[in-house]
Amino acid sequence: MPLVDHHCHGVVPGDLDRRSFEGFITEGFEPAPEGGSHFDSPVGLAIRRWCAPVLELPPLASPDEYLTRRAELGAEEANRRFLRAAGLEALLVETGHLAAELLEPAAMGALAAAPAHRVTRLETVAEAVARQGVDAAAYPDAFAQALDEAAAGAVGLKTVIAYRGGFGLDPTRPSTGEVVDAAGRWLSKRGAPRLDDPVLLRHGIWTGADLARRRRVPLQIHAGYGDPDLTLHLVNPSLLTDLVRALGELGVTVVFLHCYPYHREAAYLAAVFPHVYFDVGLALHHTGPSAVRVLAEAMELAPFTKQLYSSDAYALAEFHYLGAVAFRRGLAAILDDWVRRAECSAADADRIAELLGRANAHRIYLSSG
Ligand SMILES: [Zn+2]
Repeated sequence: MPLVDHHCHGVVPGDLDRRSFEGFITEGFEPAPEGGSHFDSPVGLAIRRWCAPVLELPPLASPDEYLTRRAELGAEEANRRFLRAAGLEALLVETGHLAAELLEPAAMGALAAAPAHRVTRLETVAEAVARQGVDAAAYPDAFAQALDEAAAGAVGLKTVIAYRGGFGLDPTRPSTGEVVDAAGRWLSKRGAPRLDDPVLLRHGIWTGADLARRRRVPLQIHAGYGDPDLTLHLVNPSLLTDLVRALGELGVTVVFLHCYPYHREAAYLAAVFPHVYFDVGLALHHTGPSAVRVLAEAMELAPFTKQLYSSDAYALAEFHYLGAVAFRRGLAAILDDWVRRAECSAADADRIAELLGRANAHRIYLSSG
């Protein structure tokens, strides 16, 4: 079954030395402890087990053998192999983080031999507006206009408020006066300011919500697991319930990304709010041999019409492939078990796989035009 990877990032186009490669297989910022390696992890095992054969190595080849072979083939060939082997029907590429160092959606689509669509990150647009220079009074309109332009042709918007203080913020729409005051404080900072002001983050979400409603595109919200820029307990999607309610009243589709270890909370929100969707994203590759259990937990409660597949792959094409492998294998194991126990028919299982793997993503991103 071809998959729609509804949330991923570009890959690094060039060759990577061991240190850089290992830097990308952890969500942490630091090298492994003395004497160890980031391959000593569930995701390290998954790379050795599932990615090595794509490079014509035996399963569980050593990290040294793996990286030597990857270098021999070259990054471009390795990237192409993994993206082709992922078996994608379409991919949605978020371009908001270190875009200059990663391949653009069009190049990703060429590697994957599948259409690639863009998702625009709200905070990156706000930071670009600040860099270009704008008066505080003009900021609200300048941001709305810049977002409109940046998101031309995008199939979704994304917010990373998870990385900017978490979900404890006031969910209401700030007044123009509050936004201008906050913009005055923010824009007076030197250099290229990172958007971390709570009022401006809220303003970003609400401006994004207006655009999402007009264009009929979903708003993606990073939740749960990620790099140490976030504080894990503050990114439980349940903390955003009031915002979720308000976005529902506005008619905006919300997609919680990744969510681990709060995928059960996300599944609950998806079960009770008709406009809420979710995935387990990078948890599929980072949990390696346990990915099937994470996927099974996500499927305990969530309606089959509300869960999506994504790899959340970033920088390494291994992850675009590993996500697809873990998702297909996990889903097959779970559904086979359900069929074996006569909890569902083979036809039910096919339909569930179709919904999670591609049809839900088509419905919310690719069919409204
Ligand atoms: Zn991501």
